[in-house]
Amino acid sequence: MKLWGIVLPFVLVFNSVAAGNLKPRKPKNIILMIGDGTGLVHLYAAYTAKGGQLNIFDYAKAVGISITASLNDYITDSAAGATAFSTGQKTNNGIIGMGSDSTTLKTIAESAYENGMSTGVVVTCELPHATPASFYAHQPSRKKYKAIAADITQNPAATIMVGGGLPYFDTNALKKAGYCVSIGINAMQQNTGARQICFIDTLKEPLPAPSRGPALETGSMHAISKLSKNKKGFFLMIEGSQIDWGAHNNDSAHTIAEAIDFDNAAGEVLAWAKKDKNTLVVITADHECGGLTLHGYDAKNKRPVMHFSSGHHTAEPVPVYAFGPGAELFSGVYQNTAIYFKMMKLLNLQTDK
Ligand code: MG
Ligand code: ZN
Repeated sequence: MKLWGIVLPFVLVFNSVAAGNLKPRKPKNIILMIGDGTGLVHLYAAYTAKGGQLNIFDYAKAVGISITASLNDYITDSAAGATAFSTGQKTNNGIIGMGSDSTTLKTIAESAYENGMSTGVVVTCELPHATPASFYAHQPSRKKYKAIAADITQNPAATIMVGGGLPYFDTNALKKAGYCVSIGINAMQQNTGARQICFIDTLKEPLPAPSRGPALETGSMHAISKLSKNKKGFFLMIEGSQIDWGAHNNDSAHTIAEAIDFDNAAGEVLAWAKKDKNTLVVITADHECGGLTLHGYDAKNKRPVMHFSSGHHTAEPVPVYAFGPGAELFSGVYQNTAIYFKMMKLLNLQTDK
């Protein structure tokens, strides 16, 4: 009888899924990985350059398509794109964590924190840059780097931040807010502070891959080891920030190096999530960049022949790859804002809408 009590819930869960009554198993933690400007083709270029393998493709259990348009433009920028993921609202290009009327919108990181979870970001751009900023700052313009850095400093929601942009921050204010500040990848690994801000280097903008070293994968695993101590769970955003920059410059080598760097980090994160069993990993992009197409194989450089049709973002919808409990919710074609609502539902967090 005792055994039956243990077995029965499993039988019921199995039956409800088998009967098509899809009630997804809910994860304790969510890791959202954003490849800035990274369409399917950017990742396929990395897959080709890696000799026909990509961790993201290997692990993906469900794949969806995200429509990326912003509120005021057919083609989004990274501020409106990240605000869609962080708040579930379409806003105008250039706006960080606010509606088009400048009302402050609560972010998923802030909701998670209010519910006792831990949160953080790991990026390869400056921390006040549009994508990470949209999770912890609220400003009408992405260009207000100092104001965004001050917002990030004052926001209690983050436990750990890894990225660049040290010159934009007031380190005394960071220390006052309880942050242990470290500079460099080695120093980050020694940082044992209760709250941490780990700068990759002292530059405004971190170096491109591979020159900056394994900052993204080391930073991601450092953040996970810290955040996973919270029994109530965590929300972590990891960004391959510079894939977009390589594509803006129509620089094939840089685009591929950054996409491989992102996939290396994804490989570590996904292997950890597979072991953990309670973590959903969602990997997507805020938009495509460069209108990239592949025209053949360049045997000399061991990479595809890449043609960029634009030096800007494009309207092309982007893939969403999901792995872990609740992954099946990410199949289908939907607006970028739906990613926020799916994550909030899976974490049992209350939305305003
Ligand atoms: Mg970005
Ligand atoms: Zn861009």
